[in-house]
Amino acid sequence: MKKLEVIVAGGGIGGLSLALSLHQAGIAVRVYEAVRDPAPLGVGINLQPTAVRELTELGLADALAKTGIATRRLNLCNKFGQLIHDERRGLAAGYHWPQYSIHRGELQALLLRAVRDRIGDKNVQVGLKLAGFEQINARVRVRFTDRQSGSGPIDEADVLVGADGIHSAVRHQLYPVEGAPRFAQQTLWRAAVEAEPFLDGETIVIAGHFHQRIIVYPISRRPSGKILVNWICQKTVMDRAPPREDWNRRVTKQEVLATFGAWKFPWLDLPALIEQSCDIYEFPLVDRDPVEAWSFGRVTLLGDAAHPMQPIGGQAGSQAILDARALTRALSETRDPVAALARYDAERRPPMNGIILRNRNLGPEAAMQLAEERAPNGFAQISDVIPPHELDEIVTSFATAAGLDVDTVNTRPSYVPRDPSFPGSA
Ligand SMILES: Cc1cc2nc3c(=O)[nH]c(=O)nc-3n(C[C@H](O)[C@H](O)[C@H](O)COP(=O)(O)OP(=O)(O)OC[C@H]3O[C@@H](n4cnc5c(N)ncnc54)[C@H](O)[C@@H]3O)c2cc1C
Repeated sequence: MKKLEVIVAGGGIGGLSLALSLHQAGIAVRVYEAVRDPAPLGVGINLQPTAVRELTELGLADALAKTGIATRRLNLCNKFGQLIHDERRGLAAGYHWPQYSIHRGELQALLLRAVRDRIGDKNVQVGLKLAGFEQINARVRVRFTDRQSGSGPIDEADVLVGADGIHSAVRHQLYPVEGAPRFAQQTLWRAAVEAEPFLDGETIVIAGHFHQRIIVYPISRRPSGKILVNWICQKTVMDRAPPREDWNRRVTKQEVLATFGAWKFPWLDLPALIEQSCDIYEFPLVDRDPVEAWSFGRVTLLGDAAHPMQPIGGQAGSQAILDARALTRALSETRDPVAALARYDAERRPPMNGIILRNRNLGPEAAMQLAEERAPNGFAQISDVIPPHELDEIVTSFATAAGLDVDTVNTRPSYVPRDPSFPGSA
């Protein structure tokens, strides 16, 4: 029987994970990435244990361990750095797989290397942007544009997956009047900088409240003993219209220090981190409203193209990887690709739509907002401000709703049955 062929538009975290998964399942795949030289762009990203499990089943456990930091704790603090909630993460929380905080660009490079090794350079085309597609005679014909020459090839396959991010061209063709992403009236300033380890060197800190907060965590170890620290400063802005999201828009240190220059805790000198950062990026907090379908015949969406979400709980990258695995399972178990894409849509879209909406309501960081409202000048004991049962309810309800609780992650069956001959699948 002829092998199923899939075209993936977009070589980001989701598209590359899908290519590896499809290859593992014996499905032919070709990846088209708009950027000619995918340089290690971005700063920190988190991979939850559920996604690390999938990458481990794809033989990437060692590469991840060498590249990222296995996160052990999440600390929620008020704007003075006082501890509100200390939570174990990854292996320390009882998951069978670590949570990794990792440089997004290094993760993309690691995945790209594995994809090139496994499916061959000729099946990974860079510098080609999807321009449009048509479904004809049980095939999908896809047009690409070379960003330099303006012309480009046409390719054909049984299935097209739009893994082309928040400005997805595939989604735009399916939803032509959708318009720009929805702006949450918050701006994020982000950078990665080398520094001395803080706390235990393996902790994510979120401090502040809804209108002004920081997220700081290590993303890799340096031979000098220093760490690469990812920091994000987030604040509410009055502008209704966002600037266009561009992961590479830069701002000055002075602009960030004007708002966060006093955020110095006994264990973390944020102003010094800001001072030492070379490139600081600005990004508006955006998402999109849920849609009522991802799959249209032989075309579907994945990752940010399908469910662009606010980065609450560090989930966007992890959920893109789970999409890749669920789609691979559907395509390998369902003979008819149209039925497989419908099955994937039915399985993944409802929970992801739920997360998009829930992420508009803060998640576990709701505890920080509560502490700010009840004790704006700080507290002697957090239990005086938020009783333990109330705190517990806030922080656990999010993980359970997102399918991230320890039991679910540890005991669910594998998405793609393991092939013992596959690298690293033991
Ligand atoms: C440059 C960049 C930097 C980022 N930095 C961070 C970060 O620091 N922290 C964080 O949490 N998240 C970051 N993200 C977002 C994060 O990667 C995603 O939220 C998440 O990993 C989901 O991945 P995805 O594969 O769906 O989308 P993305 O990772 O956004 O990947 C989409 C890919 O599609 C390509 N593409 C776009 N249009 C087309 C087209 N028409 N044809 C072909 N290819 C196309 C893009 O170049 C990109 O490589 C970044 C995304 C990008 C693109």
